[in-house]
Amino acid sequence: MNAEGRVTVVDAVVEAKSGGAAAIWTYRASSQVRAGDALLVPLGPRAVIAYALRVYEANEADLGFAVDQLKPVIDRIQGLDLPRQLLEVVQFLSEETLSPLPVALGVAAAPGARERILTTWNAIDAEPQHPLSAAQAEVLAALRAAGSLSQTTRKKLPASTLRILKILEEKGCVVRRREALPAVATRAEAGLLRLSPDGAKLEQFLKREGNRRPAQALVVMRLQGAERAALSREEIRALCGVTDQTIRALLASGLLEATEQVQQTPKIPPEPNRQQRVAIDAIVAAIEARSAESFLLYGVTGSGKTEVFLRSANEALRTGRQVLYLVPEIALATQAIAQLRERFGERVTILHSELPPGRRLDHWLRVRSGAAPVVLGARSALFAPLSNMGLIVMDEEHEGSYKQDTSPRYHAKSVALKLAELHQCPLVLGSATPSIETFFEAQSGVHTLLTLPSRAASAKLPTVIVDDLTEGYRRGQPAILAPCLHARMQETLTRGEQVILFLNRRAYSPFLICRDCGLQFKCPRCSVSLSFSRHQRKLRCHHCDYQETPPDTCPKCGGARLSPLGIGTEKVEEAVTLEFPDAIVARLDRDVSRRKGALEEILARFRSGEIQVLVGTQIVAKGLDFPNVTLVGVITADTSLSVPDFRSSERTFQLLSQVAGRAGRGAFPGFVVVQTFNPEHIAIESARDHDYERLYGELILERRAAGYPPFKRLVNVLISGEDVSSVRVLSQQVAHAAAKVDGVEVLGPVDAAIERLAGRWRRHVLIKLEPKADLVPLGHALAPIKAKDCIVAIDVDPYSLL
Ligand SMILES: [Zn+2]
Ligand SMILES: [Zn+2]
Repeated sequence: MNAEGRVTVVDAVVEAKSGGAAAIWTYRASSQVRAGDALLVPLGPRAVIAYALRVYEANEADLGFAVDQLKPVIDRIQGLDLPRQLLEVVQFLSEETLSPLPVALGVAAAPGARERILTTWNAIDAEPQHPLSAAQAEVLAALRAAGSLSQTTRKKLPASTLRILKILEEKGCVVRRREALPAVATRAEAGLLRLSPDGAKLEQFLKREGNRRPAQALVVMRLQGAERAALSREEIRALCGVTDQTIRALLASGLLEATEQVQQTPKIPPEPNRQQRVAIDAIVAAIEARSAESFLLYGVTGSGKTEVFLRSANEALRTGRQVLYLVPEIALATQAIAQLRERFGERVTILHSELPPGRRLDHWLRVRSGAAPVVLGARSALFAPLSNMGLIVMDEEHEGSYKQDTSPRYHAKSVALKLAELHQCPLVLGSATPSIETFFEAQSGVHTLLTLPSRAASAKLPTVIVDDLTEGYRRGQPAILAPCLHARMQETLTRGEQVILFLNRRAYSPFLICRDCGLQFKCPRCSVSLSFSRHQRKLRCHHCDYQETPPDTCPKCGGARLSPLGIGTEKVEEAVTLEFPDAIVARLDRDVSRRKGALEEILARFRSGEIQVLVGTQIVAKGLDFPNVTLVGVITADTSLSVPDFRSSERTFQLLSQVAGRAGRGAFPGFVVVQTFNPEHIAIESARDHDYERLYGELILERRAAGYPPFKRLVNVLISGEDVSSVRVLSQQVAHAAAKVDGVEVLGPVDAAIERLAGRWRRHVLIKLEPKADLVPLGHALAPIKAKDCIVAIDVDPYSLL
């Protein structure tokens, strides 16, 4: 306390998981504390990590209570402080997603730091000013002899020693320091590995032995996508989900080799063409001018977007600044990892949520210290503690995984835009099929549009054939493998090539009904039908995992004619087995992949050529290259079109483009057959013609007419609970409160598309605002609406309305 009775006070926020969701706590602090500092503070009987939000001078009149009631901060923790911009982003995130600050802080705080605090005591050289007891003198002498004494959260000093150290501190003989302790990487973690340069040997392994050693085959397949990037063992384990034993086996057989160098002798980077040059110049100019300009780099796969990113990144590094490189999913980003490692070597850190918390803390500390100026990661990498960014790249910006679907429900793009503003650096969004919102923003000048024309790549796009099922359906022809797809499969298999059949619905069929009374088997906990799996002889709910064995007779009328309705992956597998008895067929969906090792096994057997036809859900559309696949069949494109969501056309187009990308990735041209009852639907026609701009042209008109993004901003409030009447009452309150806010349009409350889920009733209120509307008044209006037995989940800019 100084002369006027003023003290330094800090408002600190504790992560929701250790401090509860709503609280900001006030403590007395020393004058050294700054906003963003990590503090050890008392909270009830515990000591927890808190982050300083505001530091200010106050007296009792300002506080409204006695200064003595404030507990003091225990200590600062060195090295864990948040950069200024990150602290601001946490506040932005809280406002933007209408989440409490402690929830927003949860994504930015250093992971697992609580367990790794190191406290060190050092003796001060000068002679003690105060007399010491014999025990105190003894500890001080021991401390001098040892140089320092320290304890960690796990390994503590004896209580008696701690007591004496505290007294010595008060007497000014000892100084104490707290910091986060980096883990020491074991040799197994630290070593760098890369794939053997012998491509023929790798290919031989995949063809001849891979099917018997699926985990090893998966590593080889994934790393083939990463060219010959040097990766640490733990990175390989995290990327491929394999054990160290698998890696040892690959080293023993020479498929992997140890390497000392992080960086390969760089290949000479390709000389940019004219359009790439234009794009690079524009981005570099923004880097140099410290301008928060945002760009949309629009170009198909193979048009050279990555080279633009890499050259721009190089410029940012050259000016002494940092680079954030976002990808939708780490495991699918092996190519980006390889290219960044090749160009920037050790300066690259890959943030991966699969790493153990201790290692994640190491990465956090390394990034915070400035030792790793290039950070690659999925959306959570937005909160890497970078303090001086020169460039943010967000590749495949249209991907749904950029939206977090748990609290805080943020979208990576809006956080990235805020970061660009705070760091005064450009943001580059990359996509071949941008989201409708982003393309609109580029058209209206919010982002600078940079276009890369297709170059030779268009020659490699597969031919898409749309097969109209309506005619055949009227004539009673089969709809699983209709004649067009059947004939193509026959030809493909005869040539010794492979086929992927895609259907976004697992199990045998999505319904089991009684032919006599029409009873449909439903989940007792959700408002959805139970899917029937013939293979497992089970009825299963795909939303809550409820299972039961199907009865032999109808529980309502006693009839014995229970029959499956509709098509699932199992039924497609059965149809292929019947039609092509000589072909080996396998199925890959979530029912299969939940068995440990099954995913690796099937992918390895498919890659080896042992399996000729792979039937699967979206799992098969992702990531790996199968050079011998020349035909992809989409069993029905209508499942995703019929999802009741204003984005279903856009998503169907993206899904078809992604699935089509699986065909003809090797030396042979690819074909895609899309079966549908809606052949003239815009999503299907534009996917057939690889014509994104036509899709955009139609969808933007629809969005404008219906008042959806980008013309309106949406907030979806989902109210759920076990008691249906509480949910009804609360959803009414939400609608009333929202309607009082100026400039909003309120739709609902109505039952959610899935009205009951895992025993909870669900209703929602959809709120429309002007695109740039301030969310704060709405947040204030909704904040007081609570009930003990219900959850009110607020989703700003929702990605899914189910
Ligand atoms: Zn019946
Ligand atoms: Zn269920």
